[in-house]
Amino acid sequence: MPVTSANTHAIRGAIARLNDPNCSRFASQIRRTGGCRQPIHLRGKVEHWDKATGTLLHRYSTRLEPDGVLRVPCKTRRASRCPACAETYRADTYHLIRAGLVGGKGVPASVTAHPCLFITLTAPSFGPVHTRRQHNGSVLPCHPRRDAEICPHGCVLSCTARHGADDDCLGEPLCPDCYDYTGSVLFNAVAPLLWKRFADAIRRRLAKLGGLTLRDMRDQLVVSFAKVAEYQRRGVVHLHAVIRLDGPAGPISSPPAWATLDLLAQAVEHAASVVTAKVPAYNDQPERVLRWGTQLDTRPITMDGELTDQAVAGYVAKYATKAAECVGTIDRRIVPGEDLTALPVRNHARRLIAECLRLGAFEELADLRVTQWAHMLGFRGHFSTRSRRYSTTLGDIRADRQNHARDEDITTGRLPLLDEDTVLVISEWEYAGKGYSPGDALVAALNRSPMPPSPSLVGGDAR
Ligand SMILES: [Zn+2]
Ligand SMILES: [Zn+2]
Ligand SMILES: [Zn+2]
Repeated sequence: MPVTSANTHAIRGAIARLNDPNCSRFASQIRRTGGCRQPIHLRGKVEHWDKATGTLLHRYSTRLEPDGVLRVPCKTRRASRCPACAETYRADTYHLIRAGLVGGKGVPASVTAHPCLFITLTAPSFGPVHTRRQHNGSVLPCHPRRDAEICPHGCVLSCTARHGADDDCLGEPLCPDCYDYTGSVLFNAVAPLLWKRFADAIRRRLAKLGGLTLRDMRDQLVVSFAKVAEYQRRGVVHLHAVIRLDGPAGPISSPPAWATLDLLAQAVEHAASVVTAKVPAYNDQPERVLRWGTQLDTRPITMDGELTDQAVAGYVAKYATKAAECVGTIDRRIVPGEDLTALPVRNHARRLIAECLRLGAFEELADLRVTQWAHMLGFRGHFSTRSRRYSTTLGDIRADRQNHARDEDITTGRLPLLDEDTVLVISEWEYAGKGYSPGDALVAALNRSPMPPSPSLVGGDAR
């Protein structure tokens, strides 16, 4: 690294840290965060008391730690904020999704016999954009039109370029002034509602196809979901989902024989085409009805076919760690009154953000909260969600890892081996900051090791 005035400060800080007698403890804290870029600092203590005699058996306090704090992983899912923690999140999501397809983590292997589909729900078109399409390995022309219209803004609505995978124009409208920015933002804003209605419509349709009432179907059949949102380059979300049919007790029970893969596919197709979400009239604009795009991709998941359980789990897990920053927007909320022209984003993203702020000012649209979610281009849903019965939970996977790390602490003597029934554990923790000083960031970079993350806290979960 070339020495500049900006980093002499960092180097001075790093030297001070390296000369600190407690430096090896600092290094060990960093290793235990698994390479987290922005660890949370906690101040506190854990005490183990003998319930019968009132004797203090063991005490851990952060008082003797470097700077009097313990550094623990930030646990973000976003790769743009912390690659190490996002990788943990991705791996956990992968195992969770895969368990719902082939068993494991408390789900029996018999789940592989349940009808199961991987589907993609798309957004409708809001105007032609530059795209890269491929057919049999060769790239097709973007948007070729022989007798192309010329729009009122003077743009020829045709593009014969064969775009490269990294072309900056991908996802950008052929004419930004014709592009329906309003529709794009409103679609993102109602996408969570469309999803909910879609899931309900599948259940209703299955009940109808099975000749049952919705209430009676619950005694025979449960529909489980795991979904993830993916931003398209044009700035709208698509949803990918695993949809599985179970018996009344979830993945441990078989669905009834009438609930076949074919029936599920019919119900999905029906539901995707009928559900709508209404956006109320505002200003001089009439009420608007939004629905999924006509492209629906529905594929069965098989152990060895075209679409395997590993491929699906990998796909869902990959998108679970991404957010709208992949479209070229920013990874934080827009501050009220912020100068949008100063944002380091493409013009297309800037116009989507500006449209969120414009729409957010209408009282009739207040419920959509597009102002607060302008940096997400209007989408305020969860990126990755599962229905209750899908498989295990991320919390359970984390708890497993923490228990494993705690066992290691006991074997290596960091923690006492105590009988949990006779011991009272008192822990007190408080938040004491986040991230690294420039000097500590340098030392952390030197110390980053390929060890798997070990997010256990000595003596208990502080959060
Ligand atoms: Zn982190
Ligand atoms: Zn093009
Ligand atoms: Zn135009």
